[in-house]
Amino acid sequence: MKKPQEMHQKHQGYCLGIESSADDFGVGIAGFDGEILANKSDSYIPIEGGIHPREAARHHAEVADRVLKDALNAADLKPSDLSSIAFAQGPGLGPSLRTGATVARALASYLRIPLVGVNHSVAHIEIGKLKTGVTDPVTLYASGGNTMVTAFEAGRYRVFGETLDIALGNCLDVFAREAGLKNQKGLPLGAAVERLAAKGKNLVSLPYVVKGMDMSLSGLLTAATTQIKMGSCCLEDVCYSLQEHAFSMVTEVTERALAHTEKKEVLLTGGVAANKRLQSMLNVIAEDHNAKFSVVPLEFATDNGAMIAWTGVLAFSHGLVTPIDESYVKLRWRVDKVDVPWIH
Ligand code: AMP
Ligand code: MG
Repeated sequence: MKKPQEMHQKHQGYCLGIESSADDFGVGIAGFDGEILANKSDSYIPIEGGIHPREAARHHAEVADRVLKDALNAADLKPSDLSSIAFAQGPGLGPSLRTGATVARALASYLRIPLVGVNHSVAHIEIGKLKTGVTDPVTLYASGGNTMVTAFEAGRYRVFGETLDIALGNCLDVFAREAGLKNQKGLPLGAAVERLAAKGKNLVSLPYVVKGMDMSLSGLLTAATTQIKMGSCCLEDVCYSLQEHAFSMVTEVTERALAHTEKKEVLLTGGVAANKRLQSMLNVIAEDHNAKFSVVPLEFATDNGAMIAWTGVLAFSHGLVTPIDESYVKLRWRVDKVDVPWIH
């Protein structure tokens, strides 16, 4: 990232943000005061199995112009009202990220306004802070592709613990598919597991793996799937047990980060934040440590363009822009590699 030219220093207009790191293509528009004027998206739904990166990218290319138009209409803005274009530069799936980056580069070049590459994980944290009012939380970011516990320390969001293999949302999604649950528009697989789990009564023993501050979820997934295949217990009980084990693991790590940092806020963000059982476990540990628990509103929990637009505003207003020749996507761009000069 480079310092913008002086001509770009005036903070006015709006930032349009493009999210395309995985299955969602989202466009959001944010003002410099934190106002979110639009948040539109279209999601790729695999016919079978998980996300196919090239198919997701094809979906994004097909819907991009319509989602862009929807966002501008919702905000009641013209392209000339925009003062910067932000995009998710990573982490994520290469073909998906590249499609969003291409749209962003084209728009920024055509409109002759700055381009701002945004870290997708930082954006999940920042939209959570904006929408809940928390300022310095320990954050559990749990989604289809990421699971980590972070907190701000010395210029960056530091990772206190993370999954060593698969993400929490991915664990729930793969289990759901193995159990025969189907992708349905409007009902994520994780939410289908949550519904069944609410009817479960018996706790089945499954692997619980926390190593230091990191966790491993793949053994848990295999064991839960095996229970279903063997037919040794009912689906509701396995869903319940899977949730209890997986959520206890991420909650344990979050609690230890809270005890260590002595922060006074706990934030839950990412697609899995929609889960009521996970929310209630985190609420308990927050209360135990006299901290306030907050969860990002559902619209901003899953991948969305508004979070990229808002983080673009934060970066741009603190002098960060991304020259076109540095706008290549970064598939494994870790949250703790990103300077966040807007936090002091
Ligand atoms: P994201 O990757 O942030 O777009 O979030 C998508 C992930 O959130 C998927 O793995 C979903 O299954 C998961 N998810 C959505 N709603 C729920 C829920 N109610 N409980 C658990 N996971 C959920
Ligand atoms: Mg998604």
